[in-house]
Amino acid sequence: MIRTSVRCAAAVLALALSAGAFAAAPKFQMPFPCKQVWHGNTRENHSPKLAVDLSRANGEGDKVVAAAKGTVSKVRNLGNRSYGKYVVVDHDGGWSTLYAHLHSYSVKVGDRLAQGDALGTVGNTGNSEGAHLHHEQLLNGALQKIKFDGRTIHYYDGRGRYTDYKSANRCP
Ligand SMILES: [Zn+2]
Repeated sequence: MIRTSVRCAAAVLALALSAGAFAAAPKFQMPFPCKQVWHGNTRENHSPKLAVDLSRANGEGDKVVAAAKGTVSKVRNLGNRSYGKYVVVDHDGGWSTLYAHLHSYSVKVGDRLAQGDALGTVGNTGNSEGAHLHHEQLLNGALQKIKFDGRTIHYYDGRGRYTDYKSANRCP
């Protein structure tokens, strides 16, 4: 009995390892250049719930950068619905990041980006009221709690929540 269960556990472990389940998550940074401060908003009725909306005064047209190194996997324009103009970057270990409501994009599918490389500008496209960046971090396509610089961001406490975050993306 003991031998059997040990063998089963080893098989499960091998499967999990081959699926990349234990690959370390990339250390995501804010999708803005070093030292910029942006308001992060999370709320109960945000779609999807674990996404964050990032904004600052006169933010429209500001540069959006890659949260980690990766390869551009989607560059799409949904017109005046949903994400509007958006970009998805694939990272190591099944992780990806999404950047939505862009005013413009400056990358194409297959482009390799270093952490901090520009991919577009903040806009108000799609289902958006006021310029902001809608940002998601996903693992194998499933949204995860967002981390910047290794720390989980603050999430809504029932009413919706604003917190200021300072970018450490590609700081010298
Ligand atoms: Zn949003």
